[in-house]
Amino acid sequence: MQFSQVYGLESIKKKLIASVKANRLPHALLFLGPEGSGKLALASALTQYVYCSNPSDTDSCGECSSCRKITSLTHPDVHYSFPHTGGAEGISDDFIVQWRELVTKNKYFNITNWAAITAKDENKSPNLNIKEVRKILTKLSLKSYEGEAKSLILWMPEYLQGQSNALLKLIEEPPQKTYFSLVAENSDALLATITSRTQLIKVPKYTEAETQEFLIDKYALDPQKAEQIAYLSEGNFNKAVELVESVEDNYAEMFRDWMLACYSNNLGKVSTLADSMHKLGRVQLQYFLTNGLSILRESMLYQTIDNYEIKAEKDQQDFIKKFSTTLNASCIEKSYAQINEVIYHIQRNANAKIAIFNLSLQLRYNFVRNK
Ligand SMILES: [Zn+2]
Repeated sequence: MQFSQVYGLESIKKKLIASVKANRLPHALLFLGPEGSGKLALASALTQYVYCSNPSDTDSCGECSSCRKITSLTHPDVHYSFPHTGGAEGISDDFIVQWRELVTKNKYFNITNWAAITAKDENKSPNLNIKEVRKILTKLSLKSYEGEAKSLILWMPEYLQGQSNALLKLIEEPPQKTYFSLVAENSDALLATITSRTQLIKVPKYTEAETQEFLIDKYALDPQKAEQIAYLSEGNFNKAVELVESVEDNYAEMFRDWMLACYSNNLGKVSTLADSMHKLGRVQLQYFLTNGLSILRESMLYQTIDNYEIKAEKDQQDFIKKFSTTLNASCIEKSYAQINEVIYHIQRNANAKIAIFNLSLQLRYNFVRNK
C-alpha cells in the first residue's frame, strides 16, 4: 500500500517520511488508533516506503519488486503477527493465507471480523500465544533474505498478555536493521512496558468528510448515500464498510414488505418485521430507516416533478412509482417525518423494538386515512 492510498492523516505521513529520509526512523513504533482508523494502513505504507527501491519525496513507487511483494504481503523480510484462534499449538502463519486475503481487501477490520474468518469454533477467542512469540524471535534472528531490513508488523499486541517478556527484550535490544510496527486499538490493554519501549504514533479517527470520500472512491457510492453512511459510521471505516456491504437489496425488500404490511393492516407481519429490524442492531437499523427515507423522498419528488428521473436501483424504481401513485403527498410527508423522528430516538438509545412497532402503527394510520 502506498501513502497516497491511505486516506487523510497527512501530517503523520509527512513526519514518518521525514524520519525515513533523515535515517531517524525509530525501530519500534506503536500505531495507536480507534477501530476503523488508518493505523494498519499507515504501518503498511510506511513499511513499503522503507523497502521501496525507487521512493519519491512523498511516496513509495508502488511498482518495484519490493513494493509489489509488500502489497501482496509476500515480502520474505516483512513478517506479520496477529492474534489467532489456533489454540496453544497454533501460530499466525497457519492463518497467513486468510490474513493476506483480508488485508489486501480492507485494512480497517476489527478483531471480531478477523476471528470470524479464522475460528472454526465460535467460542474460541483469539490469542497471541507463547509459540507465536517464539516464532517471531526465530524469524527476526535469521539473516534477512534480501539483504535489507527485517520488519515485523504486529497487529493487536493487546492480545499478548503474559507472553510479551521475550518480545519486549527483543524490542529493547533489537538485531541490526529491524523494525517493529505495533498496531493497537486500546492503550489500556497494553502493558506499560510495551508503550514505554515504543514511539507512539497516535492515529485519530476519520472525519465524516474523509469517510464520505473513502466510500465514494472505494464503492462508487453516490454522494448522498455516502454522506448517510459516513454520518452513521462516525469516522469508523470498518463500520462504513460493513454498512455498505450489508445486503442492501434485502433492506429495500424488507422496507417494501414493511410498507405493504402497514398498508394492508397485517399486524402479524408487522410484528415479525419489527423483530427482524430490531435484530439488525442499532447502527444497521438506522441505516435501514435512512434508506427507507430516501425511498419516500424519491416518491415525493416523482409525484411533484414532471418527468422526474428516480435516483434508485432499478428494482426499487417500480416500488417508488407505485408508492407515489398510491399515497398522497401529505401522507408521504407525514410518514417521512415520523420515520425521521424514530431514527433520532434510536440514536439516543430508545428501545428499538417498541419504537418500530409504534412507528408501524402510525404509518398504518397514515395509510388508512389516505385511502
Ligand atoms: Zn517501490
